[in-house]
Amino acid sequence: MHSVPRASSFVSCAALSIVATLAGLVPLAHAQAPSHRFAVHAAHWIDVRAGVERGPVWVTVDRDTIEAIRSSAPEGLEVIELGDAVLLPGLIDCHTHLSGRVGRSPLESLKASAASEAIAGVNNVRQTLLAGFTTCRDVGGGELVDIALRDAIKAGDIPGPRMRVATWALSMTGGHGDDTNQLDYHWHNDMARGVVDGVDEVRKQVRFNIQQGADLIKILASGGVLSARDDPRHTGFSFEEMKTAVEEAARQERFVAAHAHGKEGIIMASNAGVRSIEHASYMDDEAARVLKKNGTWYVPTLYVIEPILAPGNPLKITEESLAKARVVKNHMRSAFHSALKAGVKIAFGTDAGVFRHGDQVHEFKIYVDEGMTPMQAIQSATISGADLIGWSGRIGTISPGAFADLIAVGADPLKDITELERVKWVMKGGVVYKGETGR
Ligand SMILES: [Zn+2]
Repeated sequence: MHSVPRASSFVSCAALSIVATLAGLVPLAHAQAPSHRFAVHAAHWIDVRAGVERGPVWVTVDRDTIEAIRSSAPEGLEVIELGDAVLLPGLIDCHTHLSGRVGRSPLESLKASAASEAIAGVNNVRQTLLAGFTTCRDVGGGELVDIALRDAIKAGDIPGPRMRVATWALSMTGGHGDDTNQLDYHWHNDMARGVVDGVDEVRKQVRFNIQQGADLIKILASGGVLSARDDPRHTGFSFEEMKTAVEEAARQERFVAAHAHGKEGIIMASNAGVRSIEHASYMDDEAARVLKKNGTWYVPTLYVIEPILAPGNPLKITEESLAKARVVKNHMRSAFHSALKAGVKIAFGTDAGVFRHGDQVHEFKIYVDEGMTPMQAIQSATISGADLIGWSGRIGTISPGAFADLIAVGADPLKDITELERVKWVMKGGVVYKGETGR
């Protein structure tokens, strides 16, 4: 470590120093975990496992992993000094789409090359990491851009969060993932789109996605908002098709995430054994009780509707989709209330990719506005996200044995959850990506 920044420099210079470093694109492109041990000191930290704030803390790190949590300064170790900051585990977004350019119209997306989607992805993953998200579950992307991003980040070639990826989302013909809904009938189906019908095709697509490197399987169990000519309330896939996806994925130790807005699709997918329901816009008390009974996770994505319906239509959403969004908007928050009431497991997720990556930080305030405590909102994006992904103990917690994925904010997020919209410092795997990079 070359310098030990003082608390004041953390607050005042952090943003500037990272911009300069990233703009130069020099050392971060090949950032590696340090080979030595060091400590991170802050006045406060959020213990997400116990659900309390504590402090002061010295987190000792050995290469990319947290070694110990101490309440006094360790002897003989270099210290990254964060002063009066509040330290949290790196955040987890369980619903992103990191490949592709945000704000493309459906037709522009269809015409975009894999190369341009990948180039956009490099920026997306960097923005996501700098916003404080050190892990993402990416639930659907084309052309294996998600795999390439995941692997480039893992190799240290580009800065970005740890990624678990789904590759192509499985859609029935005419469903939420069938982008030929707006093209003429000469456009034919193939494996590199995920459009499948019947248990045999579902099984084959699951096997194909895993062969290509998928960490999880995404199915589109209802219509969607941003697709043409389908209805979010209508169920996609039969129960047998959903069950086949779950069984085939389980055979190869993968979970299934199910996009589902409509109540019937939510209940069917939960009963079919999917790990999580994404969106769940029309979930009522009855559907929430089914999720609770089955132990199914709920990934809310409440913020996304706001940029979709923003004045001036900056995301170039079609009139058809805007009309669907206006209807769904009225249901999403009541679904969240039903889940809270029933005690459904909730993991933070946002649909970033529909809107600008990094802006998913606004999801936190909505959770708190709609009834979560700030601690519960933080837990949804840390310890719960880790559970859903299957990486408990390794991410989403400041504990010995976990990756040294840490973020810091300047004031108490338990008093004002919007502090998480202003993450000052980001470390992933023992490497500082934002804030004072004094090592
Ligand atoms: Zn999505």
